[in-house]
Amino acid sequence: MKLGRFNIQALLDGTFALDGGQMFGVVPKVLWEQKMIADARNRVRLSLTCLLIQTGTHNVIIETGIGDKFDAKFADIYAVQHPTTLVGELKRCGLEPGDIDVVINTHLHFDHCGWNTRRDGGRTLATFPRARYYVQRGEWEHALRPTERDRASYIEEFFAPAEAQTELLEGCAEIVPGVRVEVFPGHTQHLQAVWVESEGQRALFISDLVPTQAHLAYPWIMSFDLYPLETLANKKRLLPRLAQEGAIVVFPHDPTIAWTKLEQKDGKIIPALVSGLSGMNHS
Ligand SMILES: [Zn+2]
Repeated sequence: MKLGRFNIQALLDGTFALDGGQMFGVVPKVLWEQKMIADARNRVRLSLTCLLIQTGTHNVIIETGIGDKFDAKFADIYAVQHPTTLVGELKRCGLEPGDIDVVINTHLHFDHCGWNTRRDGGRTLATFPRARYYVQRGEWEHALRPTERDRASYIEEFFAPAEAQTELLEGCAEIVPGVRVEVFPGHTQHLQAVWVESEGQRALFISDLVPTQAHLAYPWIMSFDLYPLETLANKKRLLPRLAQEGAIVVFPHDPTIAWTKLEQKDGKIIPALVSGLSGMNHS
């Protein structure tokens, strides 16, 4: 899809599945199962959506999926399916890992930074040899020392071996012209979303502040969130503004659509039915 002068594309690193109860927090299953079907082990299938932005001067990717550095037990728990991988999707776009200039991770949970690194024989190296990687300093430090409550979400091998190429950010920052990050505490304390802007058009990679379109409803907040009331406050502040501005919202885990515009109807934020948003559906 064109966004002003930029080209943006959703790249799928396949799918995984999470417990439906964890995914919808205080929302009872009788409600959430109307939106997403659970499997026999109560899991819902989610996309691992990454975003490629080609600005004309830089190739930027937001998130790197779940990668392939996990064992059979992990693959069973999270039901990882890889009909496509991030690296394969890049190839389809005519790009090699060496063509990527910038990698932005919204946070360092294992489903967002998997391909930051790759195994090569006995070593683990940065997957994108020329890229600078950007993450919030607070997130990096927390990822190395998570609490008992969230340590299952972090796998050091996924991100730490790329440390020499990593820039640790302190709050909002412009990464390249037209691409900037803004911190929205809630899911983690230092979660950053990514604004992409060109010629008056705006998109927001909203990350796990709103992981799927079902989570546009204010109280639909994952039980993973460390600070759910901050997630709530940020959603109430941000979503009406996105609807008003006609910004495109890119979801990290929606199983059916990569992005949508929003509208506000009877006080609720819902996906807007806009034709011409080509590339919206995951094919
Ligand atoms: Zn996630």
